[in-house]
Amino acid sequence: MLTLLLNLALLALSPTSLQDPILLPTPAETATAISITREGMVMGTPWSLTLAAESRPTALAASEIVFLALAASELRLSNWNEDSELSRWNRSIPGEPFACSPSFSHELRRADTWRRITSGAFSPLTEPLVRAWDLRGSGRVPSARELAQALDACSPAGLTWMEDQPIRSGAALIASGGFGKGAALDAALNLSVAEHSGPISINLGGQVIVRACTETVGIAHPQNRAQAIAYWRLDSGSLATSGNSERSKEVNDQKIGHILDPRTGQPALDFGSVTVWCDNALDADCLSTAMFVLGPDKGMQLAASLKNVRVLFIENTADGLRLRATPNCQPYLTSAHPIHGLLDPQEAHNPSHPAK
Ligand code: ADP
Ligand code: MG
Repeated sequence: MLTLLLNLALLALSPTSLQDPILLPTPAETATAISITREGMVMGTPWSLTLAAESRPTALAASEIVFLALAASELRLSNWNEDSELSRWNRSIPGEPFACSPSFSHELRRADTWRRITSGAFSPLTEPLVRAWDLRGSGRVPSARELAQALDACSPAGLTWMEDQPIRSGAALIASGGFGKGAALDAALNLSVAEHSGPISINLGGQVIVRACTETVGIAHPQNRAQAIAYWRLDSGSLATSGNSERSKEVNDQKIGHILDPRTGQPALDFGSVTVWCDNALDADCLSTAMFVLGPDKGMQLAASLKNVRVLFIENTADGLRLRATPNCQPYLTSAHPIHGLLDPQEAHNPSHPAK
């Protein structure tokens, strides 16, 4: 594992991974002499980083921490890596204490908390369903019996807690697809503080987290990633989008989405997409998956009951796209489309009239 990390680190330090300085928009009081960008792959997903610091050594050292933190998250949480902590947990003997890292237990705990908050629309225990639908392969439609067994194995009773220690009871299996990216982003951002607390923006597979800088994030059309439907001014925290545009499978002409409803075992209804802002990436990741399962009506109801979250639904309707947002998105969102719940539709219809 150490060799792997060292090799990855050397790879990332190759001159091609550093580009000419590009200044990030930063608060006036922050001393930022240079900016660097860096990119790579983790958990089978592309990531990129932009940070501005007072000196090149500081910028390089901070970017190195981000790089290593993302690689470490993969070794902790990947379902693809047989040796990851998560894969070892999935093979561990039920009922026996599993010695896990504090990060693993903290991340799983938070994901499990979102299961409770969303009444099971999000669940870290969806792995039996992910396998039944072969979401990591080419996809398949499980028989009614297989589905019933998989649903049974997703029972929340399969994960219990002894203080901060997760206990695997029964056949519980964790899938990190709905929270691993967020967890990795939080770890990278938080650990980078050891070298650098200034402007930084990290993008992991489309989920973005920023600190001390502002980025405008285009929110894609649910069916066409190349077309931005709205723009989100992100000046803190993290923005996650869940949708099916690129990751659904097709089996016997049936489209199977990669987000499942753990309460029914079926792929969630594909209504469009949902974008969620939270002050940390793990929460945004979990909640965007849950909101996709809940759909716009129930999702907006849940959003209204939560503090400090911002939500934008983009829904395909017979009359075209329908955008709905929580009112607290007001200062951050602009779109040429009316945004219900946010702006007067007449005003918003005028593209030259940006959100205040
Ligand atoms: P993406 O990875 O495209 O950002 P999400 O963050 O919404 O998408 O997570 C989808 C992944 O999470 C799936 O590929 C699967 O591994 C897992 N998953 C699917 N449905 C759920 C769910 N209801 N709760 C938690 N995880 C889920
Ligand atoms: Mg998610």
